[in-house]
Amino acid sequence: MRAVTLSRIVLKPGKEKSLLRRHPWIYATAVARVEGTVAGGTTVEVRSADGRFLGWAAYSPASTIRGRIWSFVESVRVDADLLRERIRAAVRRREWMSVESNALRLVFGEADGLPGLIVDRYANQLVTQFQSAAADAWREVLIGALTDATGCHDVFDRSDGATRAREGLPEISGVLSGGDPPSLIEVVEHGLRFLVDVRRGHKTGYYIDQRNNRRTARMLAEQHAQRAGRGPDCLNCFCYTGGFSIAMLAGGAEHVLSIDSSAEALRVGTEHVALNGHAAERTAWEENDVFTALRALKARGAQFDIIVLDPPKFASSHHHVDRAARAYKDINLNALRLLAPGGSLLTFSCSGAIDVDLFQKIVAGAVIDAGVDAWMLTRLGAGPDHPLMMTVPESEYLKGLHLVRVN
Ligand code: SAH
Repeated sequence: MRAVTLSRIVLKPGKEKSLLRRHPWIYATAVARVEGTVAGGTTVEVRSADGRFLGWAAYSPASTIRGRIWSFVESVRVDADLLRERIRAAVRRREWMSVESNALRLVFGEADGLPGLIVDRYANQLVTQFQSAAADAWREVLIGALTDATGCHDVFDRSDGATRAREGLPEISGVLSGGDPPSLIEVVEHGLRFLVDVRRGHKTGYYIDQRNNRRTARMLAEQHAQRAGRGPDCLNCFCYTGGFSIAMLAGGAEHVLSIDSSAEALRVGTEHVALNGHAAERTAWEENDVFTALRALKARGAQFDIIVLDPPKFASSHHHVDRAARAYKDINLNALRLLAPGGSLLTFSCSGAIDVDLFQKIVAGAVIDAGVDAWMLTRLGAGPDHPLMMTVPESEYLKGLHLVRVN
């Protein structure tokens, strides 16, 4: 028999609709009252105004997302066994995915039934982010389950992102299990070698989500080389440690100019060139603001066959959509002006608040203002280890478009 439930969230009338569609978030504005003693991460029962059972959730007193659902099924018991099984399932599901890399997202929050938990694997190093009170409350159980399920003993925590502050949790990072991670961990993605700084790099150290799009960039370089009889001239904006740059070099790029505002990221980028056996002369690394750099390139008459635009999140919430839209338009417009006829633009947005339709409209506006004709060949997204939960459209944060300049 189930233990008596002491804690409960009761929703305002009508606010059960999204939960009935199995969307796993309970906004503070939907809550009529909270019954019982509840601390951050406590499991609570969620009921509609008319008393109907809706789900089991983790309570988060400080967040606008006041509860995150563990299960919509009343008979499910939220305990260590359930969470261990979810970790095992997350790891198992990735085993049959065709991911040709040892840099892999093992747990992707809500999509794996583990709200707010991110786990990335770099070779034998695990890196965690506990982004919710839900995940934070089960820290010890989750870490034990992860080392059991993967056989990896080294776990480093990067719970230092802005999302923790919104949950009222302190920003922390450090070793959770095993030893200190080396300053750079080597991973192999589609046969290319990359160095990852899990301690100080962005996010958990590397942009794993762009794996397949880096492969697309490589393929475009190969196709250009075959078609034109010489490798393409490439521009990689917001390059971080040069993932797209190395991919395009591997595809036969004649030259790649990579721009980022982080000197530290660029330094690792230059290391990647030698590590992958390419001549340094085929690359240039520029520490600059991309908004400024694109205008300077135009002023000196530069032109490129392939351009990658992978900016950071310009819209951190719905309040910033207008300003972000102007920034996306600006870089896309100025990139299109640098694109050779027949050239390709791979353009991305990782702002969750801007959906793919809006992003496409913004880029279409840039195409019009640039006075070029362009085709959209494909829409791009994150790899299969970042699956889109169909009931949680917000989880489709990374979207990209492959445009070709027609004339
Ligand atoms: N494409 C990369 C990931 C890019 S992340 C990859 O595949 O690994 C976004 C990058 O933009 C970060 O490296 C950040 O340092 C850089 N950045 C942010 N604002 C910038 C700006 N205004 N100008 C140049 N770089 C910027």
